[in-house]
Amino acid sequence: MSAAVTEAHTGSSAPQGALAPSRADDRSLRDGAFGHARALSCRECGHEIALGPHYACPECFGPLEVAYDFPLVTREQIAAGPRNIWRYQPLLPVPTDITESPSTEPGFTRLLRADNLARELCLERLWVKDDSTNPTNSFKDRVVACALSAARELGAKVFACPSTGNLANAVAAAGARAGIKTVVFIPSDLERPKQVNSAIYTENLVAVNGTYDDVNRLASEIAGEEEGWAFVNVNVRPFYAEGSKTLGFEIAEQLGWRLPDQVVIPVASGSQLTKVEKGFRELIALGLVEDKPYKIFGAQATGCSPVATAYKGGTDAIRPVKPDTIAKSLAIGNPADGIYVLDICRRTGGAVEDVSDDEVRAGILLLARTEGIFTETAGGTTVACLKKLVETGQLDPTQETVVINTGMGLKTLDAVGGAVGPAATIDPSYAAFSATGIA
Ligand SMILES: *Cc1c(COP(=O)(O)O)cnc(C)c1O
Ligand SMILES: [Zn+2]
Repeated sequence: MSAAVTEAHTGSSAPQGALAPSRADDRSLRDGAFGHARALSCRECGHEIALGPHYACPECFGPLEVAYDFPLVTREQIAAGPRNIWRYQPLLPVPTDITESPSTEPGFTRLLRADNLARELCLERLWVKDDSTNPTNSFKDRVVACALSAARELGAKVFACPSTGNLANAVAAAGARAGIKTVVFIPSDLERPKQVNSAIYTENLVAVNGTYDDVNRLASEIAGEEEGWAFVNVNVRPFYAEGSKTLGFEIAEQLGWRLPDQVVIPVASGSQLTKVEKGFRELIALGLVEDKPYKIFGAQATGCSPVATAYKGGTDAIRPVKPDTIAKSLAIGNPADGIYVLDICRRTGGAVEDVSDDEVRAGILLLARTEGIFTETAGGTTVACLKKLVETGQLDPTQETVVINTGMGLKTLDAVGGAVGPAATIDPSYAAFSATGIA
């Protein structure tokens, strides 16, 4: 399972991150602080460094990801675990006692058979993995729980993030429960409900006049300046990213320990998509599921579709864009993992598609009216892309398909508020109701 193993490098630390020294210099890191994780490994050159608050390879500046020495893990052992992401503790960079963690325990969300939506789209077998039921109503609670564990083990004093909204909600809530100071940064034009959903948990919501990419740059600068700050998706990003694997683990386990044929996943930075696929590969390598082909599809909104544009242009060069879409949770114009999304979607025989804001709204309505699930604009994007992928023959309607709903519609009410409302406003009399024609 391990990537190209090079000698663990424990001398100098990576060129960024004032959070804490690496393990070599820090005797306070307890044994097993990161479970069975062995090192941070460079995705580009395979160079390994000690586990710590680093995200870029000291040799080539490539992104680092967590590498493991996995133990023997059985389906029974996992099934006996808690009904949340910690059932997969042996496959995550978290300690064995994480099950007593103060985090709000996301995960093990429902996988719903979506026959009505399938019929509408002429698909044979369709499932919705519904992550809107996590503690703060998006998939971000998964990644934040893993980042919080790492932050605590590394002795962080402040738990922070740049965010397109949902991440700030999850960080603020998890930090409140863990009793750690939180500071969350968002673009100032973010939807009001997402602002309130952060500000309710933290006094330190910082609205920045700029795009998410501006907010992200500011966060990197602060991470380099301030001591003891864990930015979940910056200096502890490798740990954060591993949390998305649990979406892949759950899909496989809930299907009865097998992989689906096709999965449609929204793409912002691209972290989620790449880690769901990493999760699939790990399950195969550990013998927990049968090895079989699967196709991964990425979904973007046209107003911020740098990865879909590169996919369609047949190039690896992702041109950063200035986002202009109602799908604000996906509005990352310079996606850090975009290049890996392209690689995975091409290698597995999937695709990356994009849809207009009108299609996003229609996607929200379609999922609501067929399956009774109210998704946010990111989910509208994903459902609309699923529809477009079927209609353009890129997705095989006879194959088993999973579409991931990553967030909750109440956070983006304005997107559809104008399109739906009372069918009639009447006086409280039978005659008035009768006149509406509804009966
Ligand atoms: C953050 C987010 C995503 C995608 O995240 P990446 O891992 O950055 O691609 C998808 N959906 C929702 C609702 C999100 O908040
Ligand atoms: Zn490298």
